[in-house]
Amino acid sequence: MKRFALAGNPNCGKTTLFNSLTGSTAHVGNWPGVTVDKKTGTYKKCAEPIEIVDLPGIYSLSPYTPEEVIARNYILDESPDCVINIVDATNLERNLYLTTQIAEIDVPMVIALNMMDEVEKAGDKIDEALLSSRLGVPVVKISALKETGLKELMEEAYAASLKGRQGKTVLEESALAHLVGDVKIALKGQGVKDPLFHAVKLVENDSIETEMHKETVPMIDEFKATFEDDVFGGDFEALVADARYKYISKHFAPALSKKKTEKFSMSRSDKADKVMTHKIWGIPIFLLILFAIFHLTFSEDFLYLGKIFSLPSLEELGLLTAEGEPLNYGVRWLACLYDGAIFSPGVIINNIWNNMLVGELFGWLGGLVEGSSMAPWAVGLINNGIFDGVASVLSFLPPILVLFLFFSILEDSGYMARIAFILDRMFRRFGLSGRAFMPMIMGFGCSVPAMINTRTLADEKERAATVRVIPFFSCGAKLPILTAVAGAIVAYFGVGNADVITFLMYLLGIVTAIVAVLLMRNTTLKGETPPFIMELPAYHAPQFKNLMAHLWDKTKHFVKKAFTIILASTIVIWLLTHFSFAWKFLEDEAINESILAGISQLVQPIFTPLGFGSQLGQYGWVFVVAAVAGLIAKENVIATFATLASCLVAMANQNVGGLDIAAEEGIDAVQAMVLATGITVPALISFIAFNMTTIPCFAAVGTAKAELQDKKRFNGTLIFWLASSYVVSAAVYTIGMWWWTLFLWLAAAAAVTSFIILRNKRAKAKAV
Ligand code: GDP
Ligand code: MG
Repeated sequence: MKRFALAGNPNCGKTTLFNSLTGSTAHVGNWPGVTVDKKTGTYKKCAEPIEIVDLPGIYSLSPYTPEEVIARNYILDESPDCVINIVDATNLERNLYLTTQIAEIDVPMVIALNMMDEVEKAGDKIDEALLSSRLGVPVVKISALKETGLKELMEEAYAASLKGRQGKTVLEESALAHLVGDVKIALKGQGVKDPLFHAVKLVENDSIETEMHKETVPMIDEFKATFEDDVFGGDFEALVADARYKYISKHFAPALSKKKTEKFSMSRSDKADKVMTHKIWGIPIFLLILFAIFHLTFSEDFLYLGKIFSLPSLEELGLLTAEGEPLNYGVRWLACLYDGAIFSPGVIINNIWNNMLVGELFGWLGGLVEGSSMAPWAVGLINNGIFDGVASVLSFLPPILVLFLFFSILEDSGYMARIAFILDRMFRRFGLSGRAFMPMIMGFGCSVPAMINTRTLADEKERAATVRVIPFFSCGAKLPILTAVAGAIVAYFGVGNADVITFLMYLLGIVTAIVAVLLMRNTTLKGETPPFIMELPAYHAPQFKNLMAHLWDKTKHFVKKAFTIILASTIVIWLLTHFSFAWKFLEDEAINESILAGISQLVQPIFTPLGFGSQLGQYGWVFVVAAVAGLIAKENVIATFATLASCLVAMANQNVGGLDIAAEEGIDAVQAMVLATGITVPALISFIAFNMTTIPCFAAVGTAKAELQDKKRFNGTLIFWLASSYVVSAAVYTIGMWWWTLFLWLAAAAAVTSFIILRNKRAKAKAV
């Protein structure tokens, strides 16, 4: 099968083209560096099927970051049958810089002028025939998004792949031509593949190349010694770059004719950025947008209309029965939208999903199992071990999807890239660059791709620090913990609002991450902060197709997890809580004698300073089990509650162990835990904080291990996670219980900070 590689600058539309060609749904983002590993798929509409490879975005073939190495090595070593160089036509000159380098490799090549829809909308024109004749390769105008020109592109690429091509350089016009030519002849004599490309790189003093061709370097230095140059003082890298840009602006720039405008005007994007990335207002605007998202997802009082207009509740409207149930089916629907206040869209979707669909379905399934002639233990295993766990996880699908819809909009519109820019300005002085914020923000989705994305960071230590804090950016799987516990705090203790609590917990994660990175960058992981070169992509309306693709990916992933890893874990937990050490089967009422209870009660005291240890009494171990089950997958935390809640309710019904839970049908899982253990609000919040900052799930730990490579650094990472979750949760709990302990924590923080500053000063003084 023929192989075509897609190469281009970050954010030029490679992944969009890849998806359009292969019908895949790889992640498309409006910020540089979303694709890190290469991805493959098949294009079927040519004479024969073609494998398409999506390479990471790069600005040049002189690699500094691991992703640039991947792309460069792929083109050089794997000899694709054709390289499709995607050029963002709205940014022609800058994109052609990479083009001039790929052109030097002996590989068939076509240029895809992408985003032509934007160019045409702006009224500009591009002469592709001129570009094509100057470069000697086909140039095809396309729009990856609107899927125009794709067939022509692939036909040109196919034709090119049948022919083969000799490398060609734009340096031929510059003073360097002679030097490059001599080196090329020397390399060719040695039988080196792609002699022109290597010759140019050797002239540039590219470190990988000088390493590769050690014997040739002295000869090249001799050639160079005769080269006259008084502009760049013998900096050949700058010389080559300068020659490339000169050629581009002389010969390629004329291909673009801009629509004549009356006077110089700022683009809409630039105007928006004057506000959005403002020095002072940038951060408050970001927080406001973030809060609006949480309000739209979690608030039961949309825009606070209920409070402002004192709207009547369903009960006051006489729409409920004496038991507080909806009067009829119509009211049940109404109750999904309104009760004394209009619910936010996220809550409405959630209510419909849970009250009208999932709840009904699992209620009906549970009834079937109860009514069957199965043994009681089997009924228990199926209903509590399987259905409750899976249903509780599935019930959180709506808030996850709604939240991710908003995050995808922020990302696709280009706003997320601005956040990295704003934060870069704030934190650069402390050793943290905006580049590091991009993988962190990706962590809101899932830590695994976020950790892989840290390959865009050139400094090894900054990379390690970033991998460590990525889990603090609460991922989709942690959302159920947040939603369920925050919901219980509001419903059972009547404290606060769900939107405010979830918003603050996300902020706590972000702040912890930033503080932790700053600490590490000034102690164990000190290093250079490389410059942050990134241009802000133009804002554009989010694409419906992209948004749906993101959501569909999330849904698939989540549902698959619910029916595999979560299902398996809840079954194991059910079994371990229904057998004693003597391998005797235990009824629901006796889970306190189970294997799992025995082990967990032993470690329970460790959690006492965090608020969910010994003070919770004989049932407190369920919190320990939930947190440990979360190490497999974070959804397990809530699934475990759901599985064990029914046992606690059974105990209360049988009056075992002095448990006093209202024997309500279908009591909410977290509420059952609250009633059984008497846990306080600060301890519940500490529990959320613990889960957010402790060792992440299995998959994320495995990724961290692979990405960090250094074994010592990985072990340090595990210790870091344990320590940070312990400190953060203890602080949350103690301050929540006894507000004056805030001063003790502040004093401790001040002491640590001064110690570090003093030590660094001394180290500096010594160095001088
Ligand atoms: P990559 O970083 O090169 O993989 O770029 P992506 O495929 O992630 O695309 C970056 C952004 O450009 C996304 O927001 C896309 O929706 C947008 N985009 C890609 N192709 C086109 C196009 O042909 N026209 C327009 N208007 N936008 C595009
Ligand atoms: Mg991409």
